[in-house]
Amino acid sequence: MIPYIDLKAQHRDIRDELTEAIGAVIDSAQFVLGPAVERFEGGFAEYCGARHAIGVNSGTTALHMALLALDIGAGDEVIVPAHTFIATAFAVRYVGAKPVLVDIDPDRLTMLPSAIEAAVTARTRAVIPVHMHGQMADMDPIMEIAARRGLAVIEDAAQAVGASYKGRPAGSVGAVGCFSFYPAKNLGACGEGGALVTSDDALARRLRGLRDWGQLTRGVHELPGYNFRMDGIQGAALGVKLRHLPAWTEARQRIAAEYDRAFARAASPRVVLPRPCPDGAHVYHHYAIRTPDRDALRRHLDGRGVQTAIHYALPVHLQPCLADLGLGPGTFPNAEAATAAILSLPIYPELAPSDVQRVVDAVVEGVHANG
Ligand SMILES: *Cc1c(COP(=O)(O)O)cnc(C)c1O
Repeated sequence: MIPYIDLKAQHRDIRDELTEAIGAVIDSAQFVLGPAVERFEGGFAEYCGARHAIGVNSGTTALHMALLALDIGAGDEVIVPAHTFIATAFAVRYVGAKPVLVDIDPDRLTMLPSAIEAAVTARTRAVIPVHMHGQMADMDPIMEIAARRGLAVIEDAAQAVGASYKGRPAGSVGAVGCFSFYPAKNLGACGEGGALVTSDDALARRLRGLRDWGQLTRGVHELPGYNFRMDGIQGAALGVKLRHLPAWTEARQRIAAEYDRAFARAASPRVVLPRPCPDGAHVYHHYAIRTPDRDALRRHLDGRGVQTAIHYALPVHLQPCLADLGLGPGTFPNAEAATAAILSLPIYPELAPSDVQRVVDAVVEGVHANG
């Protein structure tokens, strides 16, 4: 069996470091924020090339807080790509604003910059490019349109920690970058977690207040805030894992290159490989191939002991909870084509090269059987 993801393997390698760091939090009893979170925030801000990192309790919270901090609410519109995890659109709903969906670039699978302009109205306040599968959106044209139309740019970098675009790290390009440390993400907590990064001092101060019941000074609630704080244990675990992240990212990139080479040797026209753009570094949160008979291939791989995943089976505009947007099938052809064909193959730093070849053999056998 080749699992889709193997977190136990990751934790076997760093178990002593993790238990020591978590044990220190237990000994100190600083379970909410505290020094372990502060140390992680310092390291994470530096890693992302930003002045500030603010640790919170999930990636969804990070997106929600970015919108709150920018005063986006009822009557406002926020532009979101149709191909993303549902949380991007939900965060817009949480503040009472309207998610305005746009199609994606068919190769890059991120927000199509040319679709933004047509979606902007007098009510548009922000745009949320999502760095899907580990590759950053095409940020230059997005930043240009946003500047011209007076929109804030919030990066959903939940899948792209460590990725870059023209030398700039994910999260450092827009006004604020949002990260998830859900355990299966490239940098995962031992539970839930998230962070925002920004180089705007005033915005960082607001975010620190918002996550902690609006307190900028202890006991004085200046903002209508929330309890969105990061746990000390998660800060400790993330601090340990952040040290390993560069090596893990390199391993993911090496495995992706092995997949690329093995698929190139097999030369199957029915398998479309991920298309990393030369303008940045892809961190392969997913190695997402596209193939016409996806569901049959997935069943075939299951029978061969190769677990896969689908990110995501339905585009955002066809999710039942957003039916009130009135966007039926055919609205965003690129997002619909991607979700119909996409299949994520196992990729994680501990995946053995021999397993990569086994996966490729099973995929090639499967697409031939189907086609
Ligand atoms: C994982 C993810 C989120 C949500 O993060 P959580 O930590 O699970 O709340 C948001 N956006 C994208 C693109 C994601 O992949």
